[in-house]
Formats: sequence, structure tokens, C-alpha cells
Amino acid sequence: MTLLEPEKIIRTTCPYCGVGCQMDLNIKDGRIYRVEAPFDSAPNYGNLCVKGRFGLDFATHPRRLKQPLIRDGARGNFREASWDEALEYVSRKLSALVTEHGGDCVATYACAKATNEDNYVFQKWVRAVMKTNNVDHCARLCHAGSVTGLQLAIGSSAMSNSIGEMENLDTFIVTGSNTTETHPVISLFLKKAVPSIRDRLS
Ligand code: SF4
Repeated sequence: MTLLEPEKIIRTTCPYCGVGCQMDLNIKDGRIYRVEAPFDSAPNYGNLCVKGRFGLDFATHPRRLKQPLIRDGARGNFREASWDEALEYVSRKLSALVTEHGGDCVATYACAKATNEDNYVFQKWVRAVMKTNNVDHCARLCHAGSVTGLQLAIGSSAMSNSIGEMENLDTFIVTGSNTTETHPVISLFLKKAVPSIRDRLS
């Protein structure tokens, strides 16, 4: 049996959840045919859940949207546009709105699946160019409660331990989370902290 040899391997970050697992995409003929996880890389150290391991076929799905669409005409149909045209269109519309009504007429919303660097540039652009503080983030939905609680309890709302360290925990309390479903690779490290499970894995 001859195994497929990749034409290239691309190191990237899983797009599905906030664990941010590192993965190596094996590419051949323009398709991802295998996903591996590097054993020497945080946060997942070789682990991937079923979403990261097998859920990337959307990248080459025939119905994937690859070009901007602009609503065209009174009936609201969409037509394909180039990136230059779409960016120029959005820029012109936003400039006109802000010039006429001020920056506070615009609200913006950033994404937890974008990188920290992208989110930093985004909020900078909103505040410095659009002249508004109306910038929020989808983490508001999932983290606002924990940010407040952690700030009050330990004085910092950032994560205080790495995911890899969780397997050494003596005690952990999980509230409001089905970790196995929502952040599967974190749950692997938590399970390894349970002696009876750790013994079975070793
Ligand atoms: S836990 Fe699963 S979905 Fe989340 S980043 Fe890792 S592989 Fe992706």
C-alpha cells in the first residue's frame, strides 16, 4: 500500500474553538487530505478533537463563498464583486455615514476566531479612524461573567495557568461548562488530572 505524500504541510490554528489547537495540514492537489497535530506544540501537544481532525472539508466545498457579493438592484439580488470593488464600496458608504452622522452612528463587532493582532488593529481602526468607542467582541457573550468573577476573586481576569498544566491539578471546579463538548482538548487534560483515568492512559 502506498501512502499519499503531501506536496506541502501548512502549520495553522484550528478555527473551531478558543482552545486554539495547532495543526499541520497535509495538502495534495489543492486539497487537505490529512490533519495532524504537532506533539511539541502548545496548547494541544498532539491532540485534536473530531472537529479539528476531520472537519476541514469546508475549505474546498463547492458552495464555499470565495468572492465578495454586493446587493445589486431593487430586487436585492447579489452579484459577485472583486475585493477592490467591495472594499471601495464599504469604505465609501462608511465614510459618508460617519461624515454625516458622526462615528457613534456605527457599531462594530470583532471575532474571537480572529487573531489577537487582527483584533488589536480592528479596535485601533474603529477608535482612531471611525472616531467611536463602539467596538465590542463576541467574547462578551461567553467571558463577561468569568472576567468579572476572576477580577473580583483573584485580581486578574486573564487565564492564570496554561492548558498543559491542567493535568497536574489536584482540584478543579467546573461550573457552567460541558468542557468535553465545548473545548474537547482542554477536557483531555482535565481527565488526565483524575488519577483513575491517568492510570488507565499511562
Ligand atoms: S479542541 Fe477541537 S475544536 Fe477546539 S481548537 Fe482544538 S481541535 Fe479545534
